[in-house]
Amino acid sequence: MTVSQLDALLADKLHERGQRVTPQRLLIHRALCAREQHLTAEQVLKQVSPGLPGISLPTVYATLELFEELGLVRRLVGGGGALLFDSRVAPHAHALCRQCGAIIDVEFPGGWAWAHGRAAQVGFSADHVELVLWGSCAACAGDS
Ligand SMILES: [Zn+2]
Ligand SMILES: [Zn+2]
Repeated sequence: MTVSQLDALLADKLHERGQRVTPQRLLIHRALCAREQHLTAEQVLKQVSPGLPGISLPTVYATLELFEELGLVRRLVGGGGALLFDSRVAPHAHALCRQCGAIIDVEFPGGWAWAHGRAAQVGFSADHVELVLWGSCAACAGDS
């Protein structure tokens, strides 16, 4: 996706909810989508600071929360309990390497229908599924 396509996507989502398009929101959204997917709010802040002098961490968090509500980003808990934001919202699981902290997307082509089905069997209506696999990435497994 080009930058202008990204901006247009965000603008559409914001307008749907009666929210304004601001330079802050545009730049934070670009930062999330441009780099590797799994970023902490601190990493987002570092990336957007040059373009948004004076922007604060609470503002970044508030914007990320808004994006989450708009379905543009999802959050997950990484190694050490770090809160990470993922611009890829399509269903996928995460494999976390205990040694180097790498986060790798793992595909589940059918999505989470099976998990929702299982939850329904115990009378639970799930609105979010997060699957995390812990272990070693290929590089770290090769080291030992
Ligand atoms: Zn590793
Ligand atoms: Zn991911």
